[in-house]
Amino acid sequence: MPTTDVGLAVWLLLSFVFLTGLGVLVWYVVAAPGSQVLGKSIVHGPRGSRRIALTFDDGPGEATAAILDMLKQAEIRATFFLCGQNVERYPGLARRIAEEGHEIGNHTYSHPRLLGRTPGKIAWEIELTQNIIAHRTGRTPALFRPPYGLRWFGLFSILKRNGLTSVMWSINSRDWKRHPAEIVERVVNHETPGAIILLHDGIPPRKSGSRQATVEALRDILHATMGRFECVPVSEL
Ligand SMILES: [Zn+2]
Repeated sequence: MPTTDVGLAVWLLLSFVFLTGLGVLVWYVVAAPGSQVLGKSIVHGPRGSRRIALTFDDGPGEATAAILDMLKQAEIRATFFLCGQNVERYPGLARRIAEEGHEIGNHTYSHPRLLGRTPGKIAWEIELTQNIIAHRTGRTPALFRPPYGLRWFGLFSILKRNGLTSVMWSINSRDWKRHPAEIVERVVNHETPGAIILLHDGIPPRKSGSRQATVEALRDILHATMGRFECVPVSEL
């Protein structure tokens, strides 16, 4: 191989390694549940207590009532991260979540990926949802969960301005694509003191799907969890 070709090959290889590394780094910063680079998020509660937190995203939705029934029967309070657009669609369910003592968080209005969005668009999504939730439930959220767990530049100053704290999770049930038995296994086998568990009671606005697997899994999750841990809202972890 002539020297110039070797030089070109080395240059290409180094470029590839550099760009791949850069991609992995950027992805970690914006997407890793534990990333604190752009701003601080709660990922886990204190490990010294026996408390864990169940969290439900994307609602309210058609599965919310069944989930609320189960939580009520088990005398468990959870945290619901609501989409403003879904609160407008199911205001009665949003009110019921509040009335039954659950904690309500902000999960944006339309559930967009925040990557590359302007601060104006991010603020619009968050502040409109704060107003809708306050109007429909009488509660102003203090917690925020970014859609798809994706954070972006400008997000954290908007959260601060609105008195919101970002909440990620330590156990991802992946309930949107698993069978009930797999969801139960993923959650129950990984429960440790302070865990924050990600589940879904709703479907993002303008998307379709079912949360039946989550409803079916929840009964077994509650059964397996209740003797071992105390389930509390995120703010009481
Ligand atoms: Zn979501």
